[in-house]
Amino acid sequence: MDTAFWEKDIETIDRGALETLQLERLKRTLQIAARAPYYRSILTPEKIASIRSLRDLPSLPMVDKKDLRENFPYGFLACDPKDSVRMHSSSGTTGTPTVVFHSQNDLDHWTNLTARSMYMAGMRKSDVFQNMMGYGLFTGGLGFHYGAERLGALVLPTSAGNSKRQIWFMQTFGTTFVHIVPSYALRLFSVFQEMRVDPHDLALKSFFIGAEPHSEALRLQVQDLYGVRAYNSYGLSEMAGPGIAFECGEQNGMHLWEDEYIMEIIDPATGEVLPDGECGELVLTTLCRDAMPLIRYRTHDLSRIIPEPCPCGRTHRRVERMRGRSDDMLIIGGVNVFPLQIECAMMTVPDIGNNYVIEIRNEDYLDRIYIKVEVNPRCFTGSLEGMDDMKNRIVNAVRTELGITPKVVLMEPNSLPASEGKAKRVVDLRRNDYKS
Ligand code: AMP
Ligand code: ZN
Repeated sequence: MDTAFWEKDIETIDRGALETLQLERLKRTLQIAARAPYYRSILTPEKIASIRSLRDLPSLPMVDKKDLRENFPYGFLACDPKDSVRMHSSSGTTGTPTVVFHSQNDLDHWTNLTARSMYMAGMRKSDVFQNMMGYGLFTGGLGFHYGAERLGALVLPTSAGNSKRQIWFMQTFGTTFVHIVPSYALRLFSVFQEMRVDPHDLALKSFFIGAEPHSEALRLQVQDLYGVRAYNSYGLSEMAGPGIAFECGEQNGMHLWEDEYIMEIIDPATGEVLPDGECGELVLTTLCRDAMPLIRYRTHDLSRIIPEPCPCGRTHRRVERMRGRSDDMLIIGGVNVFPLQIECAMMTVPDIGNNYVIEIRNEDYLDRIYIKVEVNPRCFTGSLEGMDDMKNRIVNAVRTELGITPKVVLMEPNSLPASEGKAKRVVDLRRNDYKS
């Protein structure tokens, strides 16, 4: 076995052979999907027969979270619910959840992809893997759990929360790999400081960070604070969960596993498919799912396919770090703003702390951005007085990047509410009639 790869043949497959495999799998997927109530009238035998090449894919309609909700719970199920073995749901906290059903075969495929992803990032049988993602309906916990076991690592299923105990586990069992939400990784560091433990003294090697948008600067901060390599991990429950796209040792974009998913980047406004290299919304089609195949699912995640081949030798194309979600976009005084752009701008100011929240208010009929940001414990002397210079630097950084002037409120270290799961970064306090 080549020790750089989990499955060398498939990871380095020639592009032509990969596309042949995709087409074969797509045809099979369409046949299976046609059994689901939602697809029955769409995927007629004539329609399926008209898909002769991958270029015909855009002739099929796209689906959205809204369709999953409207057809809740079984409308997309292509088998008897009794023939599926597990259900997961997305992490949305309001309204009808989107639920996804898996057969044992689906879970086996997912497990293999998560094992392949973690192996690519250097995890091996001898490693100790602490899985700090929530276990349960959310896919972050169970998804990587089975992959790490398949790989042969020792898995500590600690789930999210109880920071002091997490650190104790790391110390006691010599954790080498950690799976964690990036915003929580920053908060956990302050607990390390409180306990006077230096993570550099532990056996930690790498963090897998994902589940929420984060900037390159935040990744570098995690690497620096913990003395580890932090790998970006992307996934969504509708496509299984984590393990859909993952960074290799190059840490420059995430290989999206194209033997199991077809990716397209579309213009979110027109739905038109964009050429490689252009930024737009990621649309995914499952290729190996039996219980609940999804064709052209709109993720609403904004990214770009990196057209250049990766030096690691894998032929599956890479997607760039997600820039946010098309439905996350804020319109502030007519300017389109993504929360991640604000994070990128703020991160250029040294001495900002581990947590921030963006509030949108309406004052005198004008939209205003308030950024509440914690100061770094390193430069906090017990009072926020006299820190105007730092405040001004954040205002300037955001103004230069986005052309809007925020109000910055500095906060004491660890004073903002912290989440162990996905962070809630934006609070919109505008009255509905003021929202653009
Ligand atoms: P869920 O289905 O609840 O697991 O949420 C999936 C969503 O989380 C995705 O559609 C993305 O918006 C977000 N997400 C997951 N991983 C990442 C990542 N590495 N970078 C940015 N956003 C992510
Ligand atoms: Zn690579």
